[in-house]
Amino acid sequence: MTIESYIEQKFPDLSHGTTEVQGEALRQLTVCNACRYCEGICAVFPAIQLRRLLDSADADYLSSLCHSCGACYYDCQYVPPHEFSINVPAIMAQLREESYARHVWPSFMAPMFRRNGLKIALLTALAVSIFLLGFILMVDPSVLFASGSEEGAFYRAMPHNVMALLFGGVFLFAIVATALSIRAFWLATGSGGKLDWLSLWRASKDVAQLRYLDGGGMGCMHKDDTPSNERRVYHHFTVYGFLLCLASTSCATIMHYVFGIEAPYPFLSPTVILGTLGGIGLIIGPVGLLRAKREKDSALKASTSSGMDVAFIVMLLLTSVTGLALMLLRATPAMGLLLAVHLGVVFALFLTMPYGKFVHGFYRYAALIRYAHERQ
Ligand code: SF4
Ligand code: SF4
Repeated sequence: MTIESYIEQKFPDLSHGTTEVQGEALRQLTVCNACRYCEGICAVFPAIQLRRLLDSADADYLSSLCHSCGACYYDCQYVPPHEFSINVPAIMAQLREESYARHVWPSFMAPMFRRNGLKIALLTALAVSIFLLGFILMVDPSVLFASGSEEGAFYRAMPHNVMALLFGGVFLFAIVATALSIRAFWLATGSGGKLDWLSLWRASKDVAQLRYLDGGGMGCMHKDDTPSNERRVYHHFTVYGFLLCLASTSCATIMHYVFGIEAPYPFLSPTVILGTLGGIGLIIGPVGLLRAKREKDSALKASTSSGMDVAFIVMLLLTSVTGLALMLLRATPAMGLLLAVHLGVVFALFLTMPYGKFVHGFYRYAALIRYAHERQ
């Protein structure tokens, strides 16, 4: 019996709505389930072993459990040119992108995941232009060259209520759209009802440590066949840098509404200290991730790249660079221009968050919760 006819027999589901990418993933994972050589490397292989038969929902779930470290590709005796043609990291990467589009809310936004890099770049340019024009037309062209580090200086360029309404609205939209997409993924992959505190705790610990980015202990593989932990380290800088920036924004909200003190804040205030540390993390992390991406073996990448990864990393980098530049140059005539550019970039970042690489963290978290539950 050929492997194709075996799969046809075992997976009648393949002919009922399973996509080509899901079908190819199921083919490869079925070989892995028989081989089991990689069972100790990451969470994907033990999760496969818990199943006798895999279906398309399992394939989506497993794709988000894969952290693309590449270790299984380098360990595998069945990679091309072997006739089994196994390349788990590449097919998982391709399936993840497809899975984000399949579960997105609202569903008509699914095409955003195709040629994602280009679309995010265009939207960012549009958002920056709108903020620049808004400052010129709604306030006064001279505000673009205004300087000011004294309290309330930012709000001469854009009234605080307008800023709070715009950014509060887009942030809320990003949270709701992301939550509804993750809910769709959670239900579609058969995880409904499987939420308990122990699984939540274990998954949170794995996320906080980025445990499965360690390639089974050696680190992620480079194109010169050497493993390294740099991808994990730079992910840490990026994640914690982002969280520190969020903490800084929350601090600024408290300063404004509770203590009645308006931005910009002094260099030694908690808001600026948290924002500066977060901004530095969001420069070191994304620059390192871009470098690690360049060093990655092209065999491990999805065969169809939408530019999603690079677009998201560049957006984070732009946010931190413009934010730090605004903080450092706020007392100069560059303040107005930098404020408009920074606000445009942050607005585009929030607006495109549910439709880009940002969602991968939440999909992985949901998959890890399910995995922790299955392990019990
Ligand atoms: S990746 Fe290759 S070596 Fe690893 S379990 Fe799958 S088939 Fe076996
Ligand atoms: S690429 Fe890494 S995380 Fe993904 S399945 Fe292979 S070993 Fe696991």
